[in-house]
Amino acid sequence: MAKILVFTETHNEHVKTVTLEILAKLSGHSLEVAAIGEISATGVQELAKYGAAKIHKIKGAGLEKYSPEGYANALKDFISKQSYDYVFAGATSLGKDLFPRVAGSFDAGMASEVTNFVMDGDKFAGTRPLFAGKCYAKVEIQGPKPHFITVRPNALGLGTATAGAGAVADVAGNAGAIRAIVKEVVKSASSKVDLTEANIIVSGGRAMKNADNFKILNELADVIGATVGASRAAVDSGYAPHAMQVGQTGKTVSPSLYIACGISGAIQHLAGMRTSKCIVAINTDPDAPIFTKADYGIVGDLFQIVPLLTQEFKALLGK
Ligand SMILES: Cc1cc2nc3c(=O)[nH]c(=O)nc-3n(C[C@H](O)[C@H](O)[C@H](O)COP(=O)(O)OP(=O)(O)OC[C@H]3O[C@@H](n4cnc5c(N)ncnc54)[C@H](O)[C@@H]3O)c2cc1C
Repeated sequence: MAKILVFTETHNEHVKTVTLEILAKLSGHSLEVAAIGEISATGVQELAKYGAAKIHKIKGAGLEKYSPEGYANALKDFISKQSYDYVFAGATSLGKDLFPRVAGSFDAGMASEVTNFVMDGDKFAGTRPLFAGKCYAKVEIQGPKPHFITVRPNALGLGTATAGAGAVADVAGNAGAIRAIVKEVVKSASSKVDLTEANIIVSGGRAMKNADNFKILNELADVIGATVGASRAAVDSGYAPHAMQVGQTGKTVSPSLYIACGISGAIQHLAGMRTSKCIVAINTDPDAPIFTKADYGIVGDLFQIVPLLTQEFKALLGK
């Protein structure tokens, strides 16, 4: 049984779902969770439900808001006083920024953005996409422990877990010397779930023609509880902000359902969404490459199909 720490990023004191996915997958091991800052009572309950025996809340001067150096110093300080075999985190924007820095400070091995893994006894073996998802590599980590692993959100799914004690402890954090200070975090105007964590995504491509037309995607998204994304062509044309871009130079997503509207399916777009569980494509061109990856394809004009889908879902869901 390996001793494992899962670092949880919190948003307004709420725990990110990817933390629960990781905990559930690691069921049966000795599991602890660390967060920098506060966690809500509901968050603590969820962590315990998914197997956390101990929950460490690291707090201290300089840790009030995220800074790569402050968080890395505090986490390094905390981890070096323990004896973990593995330290996991979600491959969120924060996780991807923070974890290589922490792993580097230990001179330890790291597996980034794994989409699945197994624990053979105490030994970790993961799978991670390479070359924009064209192939998958099996990864094992060598060298002294702890080993560091980030897991792509939504990739594992919320498995069943054995509940843990969920004992909460406050830890004095040491932010150390912070040379690069984050002055401000500009929040996106959208109150929707972040793309990387969304369970359903409706994305629009160049065929949307302008920013205003995205309202038909927003209407559908509102009815089915989705977040709206975009292709790079739509973003470069000014129809949508870069925060909405899915793909190699945008966000990597793994929702349960991805509805691509007027998106051709270029390899760079597929790189960001090919691990979606179910892909639906709406395109006027029956030969569009997206149809080779789609589970369901609708050959037709999105300006007719999307409002029809919205209408049907409204009726089905009684909205
Ligand atoms: C280094 C690099 C990085 C890149 N990174 C990304 C990335 O992160 N994300 C990304 O998306 N792209 C990325 N690209 C760009 C990528 O190669 C494509 O150019 C882009 O994905 C095309 O976007 P699109 O599918 O919206 O547009 P198009 O390829 O122009 O496709 C539009 C589609 O809409 C269909 N269509 C037209 N009218 C309608 C209608 N009324 N109803 C339904 N369908 C209709 C057409 O048949 C067509 O298939 C990158 C490229 C490079 C070189």
